[in-house]
Amino acid sequence: MMGLMQDVPLTVDRILDHAANWQGNREIVSRDAEGRVTRSTYAAIHADAKRVSNALAAEGIKQGDRVATMGWNSARHLSAWYGAAGMGAVLHTLNPRLFLEQIAYIANHAGDRLLIADPATADLVEELLPQVPSIEKVIFFCDAASLPQTSFPAIAFDDWIAGQTADFDWGGFDENAACGLCYTSGTTGNPKGVLYSHRSNYIHALMTLQRDALGLSARDTVLLVVPMYHANAWGVVYSAPAVGARLVLPGQRMDGESIYNLIEQEGVTYSAAVPTVWQMLLQYMQENGKRFTTLERVTIGGSACPESIIRTFRDDYGVDVIQGWGMTETSPLGTVSVPNASVAAKSEPEQMAYKLKQGRLLCGLEMKLVDDAGNRLPHDGKTPGRLMIKGPTIAGAYFGGEGGDVLDAEGFFDTGDVSTIDGEGYMQITDRAKDVVKSGGEWISSIEIENIAMGHDAVANAAVVGVSHPKWDERPILLCQLKPGASATAADLTQYLDGKIAKWWMPDDVLFVDDIPLGPTGKIDKKAIRAGLEGYKLPFEVSR
Ligand code: ADP
Repeated sequence: MMGLMQDVPLTVDRILDHAANWQGNREIVSRDAEGRVTRSTYAAIHADAKRVSNALAAEGIKQGDRVATMGWNSARHLSAWYGAAGMGAVLHTLNPRLFLEQIAYIANHAGDRLLIADPATADLVEELLPQVPSIEKVIFFCDAASLPQTSFPAIAFDDWIAGQTADFDWGGFDENAACGLCYTSGTTGNPKGVLYSHRSNYIHALMTLQRDALGLSARDTVLLVVPMYHANAWGVVYSAPAVGARLVLPGQRMDGESIYNLIEQEGVTYSAAVPTVWQMLLQYMQENGKRFTTLERVTIGGSACPESIIRTFRDDYGVDVIQGWGMTETSPLGTVSVPNASVAAKSEPEQMAYKLKQGRLLCGLEMKLVDDAGNRLPHDGKTPGRLMIKGPTIAGAYFGGEGGDVLDAEGFFDTGDVSTIDGEGYMQITDRAKDVVKSGGEWISSIEIENIAMGHDAVANAAVVGVSHPKWDERPILLCQLKPGASATAADLTQYLDGKIAKWWMPDDVLFVDDIPLGPTGKIDKKAIRAGLEGYKLPFEVSR
């Protein structure tokens, strides 16, 4: 017997309809491409998004066609996002920080028909266009006065939508229709496209709105630091309008001072970003003696959150840090580290151990650990295994069938992460499978050593990589970037680590570097580090 409830397709246009109808005056603050801070509302964004749908239809864009954007977080970008999705096109977010060849590969693979880009990327677009014949037209996120000089005909976004009406019938298609396309950065092999559906994005928004997830509310002012081109903007493009949160879109300026000023000027209560952004912000605040007056909590994810960041936010600024784990392929949120009842009853040091874990699974998902042969491993908090995940917000295949069949026999997706799961259900990433240090047949967690090393007063950033060793296969070495003006020796670092990690995890060498290379989404680029270490020899042979 079937249920008798209304069969309403879960398409994301309904989310912005809801925001416009019921929180229409709620403000959207945006630093636009011209550098100005502008003020809009959900109702105005909704109207502009409908104009975008009409403009796209006038270009001949049909359901399923890919429309690319390449820009920072702005109100215009938000209108384009919903304008494309609402009329059934697929919004494909390109990351302007990738290499030209990668962007060209991705845009060709996606078969993008239109490109809407920030004017600051005009030089990049100039080089890109000859390499991507599928792009028929370029629109820049700006007004006519700010249109960059280009050798190709381009049009300003404001002009492009100006003549269009704000009437357009959104939706009317299957909730499983494609809605957005986002490529993983391809740290192994070519980038692969994750093709979100309306349904997966709608469900993801509801999942992340739980109090024990991102927990956004109508009373929040949300600063969306996570770029809209990174991992589906962590779903905030859907969850903020779903609850009518006030949204602040920071544009291109991501330095500590600019982020701090926006937080204070706009009364931001909540934000989300990768650890490197928060490190920059905290450094700026410490150097300039700044305080937060409104910020209550931040979600940190994308890479492991060092304890020093959690403590500084909490002890010095009264801000709660919540760690989340996810990936482009998981929409992205999979787990969040918030205390359950039994963890909440523990002492402060015990609770910190849980905050450092990547957390508990969101409702609707399943996860398991397996060995290399695919056998399930115990959830004992000690045994590391490949993390596998399943659910309606998890990729079932890559765009264009890249990578072939990506699910195991039980329908689980291999995250490429190695983790443990404890008896309370807390998952902890020990490494990415391709970054693990395997010494004497056992795994050493580079992430754990990095986190501890970053607790040392002199250390600004730390990275652990494995180097080959004649006896143990691999041994870890530690790269440290010191804070400006700080000094430390290799012996200081090993002394600091002594007693905090297993003896056989102790790095065999400590190298001081000016810079730890970061990838295009602000994560430590271990591939670049390993490439830079080619020919490196360990200073001595160790015994375990
Ligand atoms: P990429 O970095 O390859 O572009 P994603 O942005 O999708 O792709 O990154 C997903 C990966 O980031 C995860 O598989 C995991 O390795 C890492 N990651 C995400 N959140 C965390 C976290 N809180 N702690 C540790 N690693 C994390």
